[in-house]
Amino acid sequence: MNAIELDATHDPALRSWVGSANVEGTDFPIQNLPFAVFRRHPSDAPRCAVGIGDRLLDIGMCIELFDGAAAPAARACRASALNDLMVLDPSAVSALRAQLSRLLSAGHERDRAALGEALVRISDAELLLPVKIGGFTDFFASIHHATNAGRMFRPDMPLLPNYKHLPIAYNGRANSVRASGAMVRRPHGQLKAAADTAPRHGPAQRLDYEVELGLYIGAASTPDQPVTVGDAWRHVFGFSLLNDWSARDIQSWEYQPLGPFLAKSFATTVSPWVVTADALAPFRVSAAERPVGDPSPLPYLHDARDQLHGGLRITLEARLRTQRMAAEGTPPVTLSRSGTDTLYWTFAQMVAHHTSNGSWLDTGDLLGSGTVSGPGADALGSLLEISEGGSKPLTLPNGEQRTFLADGDEVTLVGRCEAPGRVGIGFGECTARLLAAAG
Ligand code: CA
Repeated sequence: MNAIELDATHDPALRSWVGSANVEGTDFPIQNLPFAVFRRHPSDAPRCAVGIGDRLLDIGMCIELFDGAAAPAARACRASALNDLMVLDPSAVSALRAQLSRLLSAGHERDRAALGEALVRISDAELLLPVKIGGFTDFFASIHHATNAGRMFRPDMPLLPNYKHLPIAYNGRANSVRASGAMVRRPHGQLKAAADTAPRHGPAQRLDYEVELGLYIGAASTPDQPVTVGDAWRHVFGFSLLNDWSARDIQSWEYQPLGPFLAKSFATTVSPWVVTADALAPFRVSAAERPVGDPSPLPYLHDARDQLHGGLRITLEARLRTQRMAAEGTPPVTLSRSGTDTLYWTFAQMVAHHTSNGSWLDTGDLLGSGTVSGPGADALGSLLEISEGGSKPLTLPNGEQRTFLADGDEVTLVGRCEAPGRVGIGFGECTARLLAAAG
């Protein structure tokens, strides 16, 4: 399967004998089957699973039920991270998905007893970082975000001349990536506002989140063999939500000339669920149309099929709950809703560009999309944009105000895919709370 063809696993009529998977609006209907890594007790070894309704299916506990190409893929799920599965040929992962879909489908209840032991309530499990991440690259693929953010840092030239010619990125720090739920500590750093005559060192005051989609590399690419745009999806295992925590005051002082460094490397939060490229097939759309007059990408970044099917229709949402809202039992407030279908560069173009100089991508590498902002005022994926660089405070329903994040604030990202005639799927949650800077 090449990640755009639909098969029996996408059938909208498919239902599961796991009742909660059939509830309208669930993130994990049988058409999704996202992978995760969990444990029941802190002393347990981590285990690989798929999500189905409000349950996890512990694949390592039922490997005897899988055969053919799916058997080695099921055996790879006995590891404590998804990497052993991700390294396999995409056809093996697709075969595992097809057999999981059959085993869990209504009308296929003869294995229900065998599988019952392997089903764990998600609420009884601790969800862990699902992948051993060797490399982390963060792109900047939303032209709306690039323009909005660029305006804050460089009012005279928001979009730099290279933006429309190549997918801009920086090399991030893989060991900063942590699973949803782990708290994030406000970093210290060197700070210098425009009016200051000299920098000082102290806790960052302009702490922000960034709404992103993360891509996990499955099959590795080969050194010195650039991946073409047309072949890029063969290396895509799946996607998670990603929050690239950013200290804007550290960033504005340090970012020139080599890009962000300590403003970003203190923490990145990812959702624990990896939604596979296969599951996203019904939500592939054409790449966002470039405005008339924009340059055509160079040939190594262009593929006609990718322009037709290389976009993803995923709606990402950022939610904020302050400490006071939590104490008062108020639900989180939604700050933005933006779509990955507006990205200026496709994920295949990012993969092709990443490998175009002969460097290669390894299994488990994580590529961030960059902040996903849309054209509207309600589609801004960071507080930098919402507060216009801190100049326009946002008033929350309980009267509290924010320009940037306060200690105790909890930021949650969610993502959903919907398409006419399809069963919608979701990404679960990517959430973390901000702790005060270390004394
Ligand atoms: Ca970012």
